[in-house]
Amino acid sequence: MAGRPEILFPLFSALTELEGVGPKTAKHFEQLGIEKPRDLLMTLPQSGIDRAVKASVQDAVLPDVITVEVEIGMHVPPRSRGRPYHVHVRDEKLEFRLVFFHARGDYLQKQLPSGQRRVVSGKVEMFDGQAQMVHPDYMLPVDRASEIPAFEPVYPLTHGITQRMFYKAAHSALERVPELDEWIDLGQKKKAGWPSWAEAIRAAHNPKSLADITATDPARERLAYDELFAHQLTLGLARATVRAKPGVSSKATGRHQSRVLAALPYALTGAQTRAIAEIATDMEAPVRMNRLLQGDVGSGKTLVAFMALLAAVEAGGQGVMMAPTEILARQHHESLVPLARDAGVVLELLTGRDKGAERTSKLKALAEGEIHVLVGTHAVFQEDVQFQDLRLAVVDEQHRFGVNQRFELGAKGKAVDVLVMTATPIPRSLALAQYGDMDVSVLDEKPPGRKPITTATVSTKRIDEVVAKLRGVIAEGRQAYWVCPLVEESELSDKTAAEDRFKRLRAALGEGAVGLVHGQMPPAEKDAAMASFVAGETSVLVATTVIEVGVNVPNATIMVIERAEGFGLAQLHQLRGRVGRGDAASTCLLLFQEPLSETARRRLSIMRETEDGFRISEEDLAIRGAGDLIGTAQSGLPRFRIADLERQTALMAVAQSDARKLLWDDPALETSRGRAARVLLWLMEQDRAIRLISIG
Ligand code: ADP
Ligand code: MG
Repeated sequence: MAGRPEILFPLFSALTELEGVGPKTAKHFEQLGIEKPRDLLMTLPQSGIDRAVKASVQDAVLPDVITVEVEIGMHVPPRSRGRPYHVHVRDEKLEFRLVFFHARGDYLQKQLPSGQRRVVSGKVEMFDGQAQMVHPDYMLPVDRASEIPAFEPVYPLTHGITQRMFYKAAHSALERVPELDEWIDLGQKKKAGWPSWAEAIRAAHNPKSLADITATDPARERLAYDELFAHQLTLGLARATVRAKPGVSSKATGRHQSRVLAALPYALTGAQTRAIAEIATDMEAPVRMNRLLQGDVGSGKTLVAFMALLAAVEAGGQGVMMAPTEILARQHHESLVPLARDAGVVLELLTGRDKGAERTSKLKALAEGEIHVLVGTHAVFQEDVQFQDLRLAVVDEQHRFGVNQRFELGAKGKAVDVLVMTATPIPRSLALAQYGDMDVSVLDEKPPGRKPITTATVSTKRIDEVVAKLRGVIAEGRQAYWVCPLVEESELSDKTAAEDRFKRLRAALGEGAVGLVHGQMPPAEKDAAMASFVAGETSVLVATTVIEVGVNVPNATIMVIERAEGFGLAQLHQLRGRVGRGDAASTCLLLFQEPLSETARRRLSIMRETEDGFRISEEDLAIRGAGDLIGTAQSGLPRFRIADLERQTALMAVAQSDARKLLWDDPALETSRGRAARVLLWLMEQDRAIRLISIG
């Protein structure tokens, strides 16, 4: 597609072409992210003011914006400088005052001649026991009262932009709205009762009542859908592009897998079996796999990923698993060692700490195919790391990765299958927005036999009781985590808090019983501290949030989180997931400092109520909002102007299936609906998608 369709030109012109918008105003509009008429049109009123004419101010609950017909009475100019100018007026039932500061008397005399009737509209409030309207928004002769909109839209403002300016500019932009061919499936449009795009945009800027401003208003809903649909089309095109690149068909023979399965002391869960099969199908197909494995902590993702890695090996190739941190890479490696032994494959670890001759020999073995599965940190993607035949890359815990980064990963040229694992359950709407270009396998079933974790909230005033409980736990031969507060100011203070707690617990529980890890420690010390906890040499591990993800010590049955009110829900859930991994009953103690804020109280009570990561993520979304949940900028999650991810989940799901269906029927977007959809992509500035079609 050559360039932006001409029909959209008027919407992409300079803002200054609009009525009443000069260069200065245009600059102010930029503060709102508005640079062209299209942006203005996509910035909808947030609320509205009812300016329908009322009989009298007397019937209103003040303060409120009121429109009434009045008879003008006496003018009372200010008695001294700096005092306001008053005009007495009387509506059907009540006498009140219009108030003006820094007023010009002659102007007001002309506008409001005593004895005449006017319609005035503005905010009325009580002052000194009298109703008054300060600086009316409208003052018109009765025969011009219709110039006051019965319902006036209220736009988001910024310095230098008034409601009137915004309204005028938006209405000038509305005159440029072209009739566009329909891109929405006609069945869907009819079922939802949606207007056309042009009708919708006009209606959205001309609300008739508050109902027209709610997200469920058909015009608004349609405009939200357009945004979501465009986003899903982009993801769908990305997905199609990845899939169109020839991939390698890796067919599992079961040779290694069956040996692992035979040696497992447990049976796979249904969800694991399903996920393994879905992955196998993808890997066997001659297209590139781009799949997300989503599962709560403890749902058994590691085993699923390992079976996929074995499939790559069975097909004669190699696999790599990448973790975000050194600790996690080591843990993955450790937990895979026995599985690799059972399977009869060669497993190796490569991190940034490999240096010199050892590293060289690992790289050599890798290039010659003597290492089958490599586990590591980002180090595995360094340039000199060459595989003989890499078939599968497993990327762990990449929920902080956005769509854009995955695009880059896919663009590395190699036709490797990609499996992304995330332990952070995210609400469905966000999953669709963030991972809509991927296929998703969900482990929604926990391995059987897990005891529920008892969660309790305890005031820090009772910290001594908590320490006493720890003593009992240690006596039983069990272990505990003690997570120290997040300290806002710096990592250094995190360290101080952890060291302080470490000293106190050692004094209370015995020198050798307590270990310490924090982010500031030299890596070797950190590893040593982790290792002695894993080996059971230390009973209590005092830690900052470095233990947040992945760490697995089944014998640990207590998780103490100090100043839990300072943590986010997702983090609390991740931390709690460190216990309850063995067969003994586990407890999570959330220590809090009073007084609790309302949201902190809500977070802690959700933690007490449920262990379901998906439910927790939905609640988190409700408390925090979509942008916050993943960090919009980082996540690559688009910033929607109209759509609301929290409240329009169902709409997102419809948009995804509709986008995928359109691309299935019309992959190059060449039919008339396909061409309409191209216009939508231009309208929604989905440059990336546009590039994909241009290339493809
Ligand atoms: P995740 O990575 O999803 O948090 P893990 O893969 O670390 O979960 O698994 C948690 C624990 O559950 C591990 O000790 C693992 O050996 C065990 N496990 C995995 N699958 C099963 C299963 N089907 N039945 C019983 N235990 C399992
Ligand atoms: Mg794991």
